[in-house]
Amino acid sequence: MPPVTLPTYADVEQAAGFLEGRAHRTPVLRSRRLDERAGCEIHLKAEHLQRVGAFKFRGALNALSAFDADQRRGGVLAYSSGNHAQAIALAARETGTRAVIVMPHDAPALKVAATQGYGAEVVRYDRYTQDREEIASSLAAERGMTVIPPYDHPHVIAGQGTAARELLADVGPLDVLVTPLGGGGLLAGSILSAGALAPHCRLYGVEPAAGDDGQQSLRQGRIVTIETPRTLADGAQTTHLGQLTFPIIADGVTDIVTATDEELVGSMQLLAATLKQVVEPTGALALAAVLSGAVPDTAGLRVGVVLSGGNIDLARFAELVGAP
Ligand SMILES: *Cc1c(COP(=O)(O)O)cnc(C)c1O
Repeated sequence: MPPVTLPTYADVEQAAGFLEGRAHRTPVLRSRRLDERAGCEIHLKAEHLQRVGAFKFRGALNALSAFDADQRRGGVLAYSSGNHAQAIALAARETGTRAVIVMPHDAPALKVAATQGYGAEVVRYDRYTQDREEIASSLAAERGMTVIPPYDHPHVIAGQGTAARELLADVGPLDVLVTPLGGGGLLAGSILSAGALAPHCRLYGVEPAAGDDGQQSLRQGRIVTIETPRTLADGAQTTHLGQLTFPIIADGVTDIVTATDEELVGSMQLLAATLKQVVEPTGALALAAVLSGAVPDTAGLRVGVVLSGGNIDLARFAELVGAP
């Protein structure tokens, strides 16, 4: 394996400079009812209110801001189950670059339409039989485009780290910080920020119970690859952590825990009923794990929870959240 240079908190600070005025500084939501229910003080970082409806815009804009003139001329290629695609599409439009997005054929219609709406070209593939990374790299070579992967890239990780940086700046040191976990860009970036701003804060990543490759990787001390998990959390249907995200996570995370689809729906219902917020299943992973007790020993503590995204068809949302 070639040596890799891991991003640091200095890269998160640089990203924060690029993002200032171009990405939203999302609010931190509080609810007394939620605190009572959870038995701790919950600070929700509302990244479902970020541009494109997810934190992914942070990493995408940071990566595209770092393009040189040649890369800008060639354009950007991305593969994604949805939110990274929309994020790259909008960031490309904003930085004057063209974008091609490789998306699974069963990606939510809303996400495909939104990606095309930002002016990107969408190329479809079958996520259960085809390797998206191979498709992406051959297309990119053919067309002279730069691939920006959804999580395993230093500028993407640094960009994602700006969400936790803002949260900690706004509410001060937390005792516990919990984020959803797919490929690990969000968690790794959060670890960089917490390491610098709240060194005593415990950090947890939350995966769907159907796809606990991150937890297995942490236990075994190597990147474990699993089959594509079948879960409502389509933003965390990743099969493995990255070469960059794994070492940062292994070094800085307190633990990786899981939430079931049923727990995700319960958290979505609570967020809708109590805070009037529309959060997608993946976006509810972290809150679900706090409420279920999968994140241990939170009683009375100050707990940061990242609500990572809100992109879900309204009909689907009604079906999930309206269920008795
Ligand atoms: C991508 C995504 C995640 C997972 O982020 P990683 O950086 O891949 O770990 C979580 N929630 C939402 C809404 C996402 O779009």
